Amino acid sequence: MNKKHPITPLDFQPRVAVVRGYQVATAAAGPLTRLLDSADRDGVHLKIASAFRSYAYQEGVHSRLVSTIGQSTADAISARPGYSEHQTGLAVDLQPVDGTCALDPCFAGTPAGRWLDAYAWRFGFVERYTRANRHVTGYSPEPWHLRYVAVALARELRVTGTGSLEAFFGVAGGAYPDAGNAG
Ligand SMILES: [Zn+2]
Repeated sequence: MNKKHPITPLDFQPRVAVVRGYQVATAAAGPLTRLLDSADRDGVHLKIASAFRSYAYQEGVHSRLVSTIGQSTADAISARPGYSEHQTGLAVDLQPVDGTCALDPCFAGTPAGRWLDAYAWRFGFVERYTRANRHVTGYSPEPWHLRYVAVALARELRVTGTGSLEAFFGVAGGAYPDAGNAG
């Protein structure tokens, strides 16, 4: 899923399980639990900031942003309803329990950010929006946004140094069809 490929149907709702109080797709629940437990054992205490978000919820979030900061800026930092990976239940935003750099690009440089960079793939998660792939995804870097793709693909992306799911699958990303720039 990206700005060129919405979820189908637009109001898709995954089967979910609850991890630490948040709904995630059943496929990602076990791996996410193991990731969080493993980080805890390494002294890296993470909590979930956001997980599954419904179409209706995303519609509210995005329309409020558009009305305050405008369409193009809103599109650079938030998905339109039907275009958010959070609607699949396979994406999760993590932040340090102490709140350091929560949902801020500086998260990448924190111990928690570095831990995820080193180990998230072992649990089948990839950092979806990076500084290097922003021209491909059309999103600003979000080092806290992880997407579950299962271990085999996460390992393959890492081994081959492939910077995005778009590059791996050879599909277009970037701006919405009606947008003039990638944001
Ligand atoms: Zn996210």
